[in-house]
Amino acid sequence: MRRNDWTKILGWPGYTVFQQEIDEKAKTLKLWVRRKRGNRRLICSGCGARIAEPSDTTEREVRDLPWGEFRTTVVIELYRVRCPKCGLRIEKVEQLPSKAPFSKRFEEAVGEACESASARRVAQQFGLAQSTVRAIDLRYLERWNALRKKPVLRHLGVDEIFLGKSVKFVTVASNLESGEPLWFGHERKKETLDEFFRTELNARQRGRIEAACVDMWEPFKSSIQEWSPNCAIVYDKFHIMQHANKAVDEVRRAEFFRKGARMREIVKGKRWLLLTRWVHLSSDKRQHLNHLFALNRKLMKAYLLKESLERLWTYTYEGAMLRYLKSWTLQLRWQRLPAFEKLAHMLIDHVEGILNYCRVKVRFGVVEAINGNIKSLLRRGRGYKNLRYLLLKAQRMAVTKTEFLAFRKAA
Ligand SMILES: [Zn+2]
Repeated sequence: MRRNDWTKILGWPGYTVFQQEIDEKAKTLKLWVRRKRGNRRLICSGCGARIAEPSDTTEREVRDLPWGEFRTTVVIELYRVRCPKCGLRIEKVEQLPSKAPFSKRFEEAVGEACESASARRVAQQFGLAQSTVRAIDLRYLERWNALRKKPVLRHLGVDEIFLGKSVKFVTVASNLESGEPLWFGHERKKETLDEFFRTELNARQRGRIEAACVDMWEPFKSSIQEWSPNCAIVYDKFHIMQHANKAVDEVRRAEFFRKGARMREIVKGKRWLLLTRWVHLSSDKRQHLNHLFALNRKLMKAYLLKESLERLWTYTYEGAMLRYLKSWTLQLRWQRLPAFEKLAHMLIDHVEGILNYCRVKVRFGVVEAINGNIKSLLRRGRGYKNLRYLLLKAQRMAVTKTEFLAFRKAA
């Protein structure tokens, strides 16, 4: 093969192969490259300034994509430059994105593999340590994130997610329109969300937020009111329905569990049935529920109350929505269902944020879908002690996947 052919196959723009070494036994290929004669643009790797003259040369060896069965390394002749701002520095080279011993396209191949497989699998595939794969993947995602255009934030979602015993609660701020997480913060205090507004958005961006979809959680509400006073607070339907489900479960326990072993046996394992919406149940499951309701009228009432609360979000006019909510709470009279009375108080206390849904139709369920993605990443990956990495990974997932599984359920 002629020297020119080596250069063509390697295909590094501006670089020519001037020496090569093949080890057929070890299946390795080593190539030495230097700049082509016309390629004289020197850039400081510290600040990006153009430098006229090199000061001296040095060498770096990086792993590149394999050639057939041959594991390939490239030795690059590099210039050092004397930058007026940074002092003596290595020149910036397109194919060397970091100090790690890998070419840019090798890192890209690893990063792309990480999008559909676990770090453990990718490590096996490329013959790298798992920690190396994660470090490459993180740099790959950082480069992607630096170059992409970020969508405007108009509908903000705020939720918390439990990340296990060591990290505990993390607050997740997300863009409900693009369906991606924007930021993670430790704990779920007012200060947590304050930090998001202070460090991630400027005054103009804060002013552009039209609505925020949150749980009925005071610290988040007061942070939003302070930083983005024109933003409408909309209480998330899914969170409200979670409270309703909890109330049904409380009734189930009060009515069956505390009434002896026989009754307890009847209701055992029926929890999820009660938490599932009627329309999602098969006919034999409905029969199970009907059997349960025949034994206990209170439980039936609780289930119906939960089911009918869903209708609240079908209203478009505040007046009609408010009327429906009032008639719903009236049904609680004489029922002796303390769990639901508590829920009704909560809804009345937060009525403004419930009615706001008539003014701004935010996309419910997005926050849950994002949480679901984060949880599935955690299940697959482990190694997410680095929250920044987890965030970028979840963002990439949201942007590349056009449809989330949970979106369909929410619709
Ligand atoms: Zn410089």
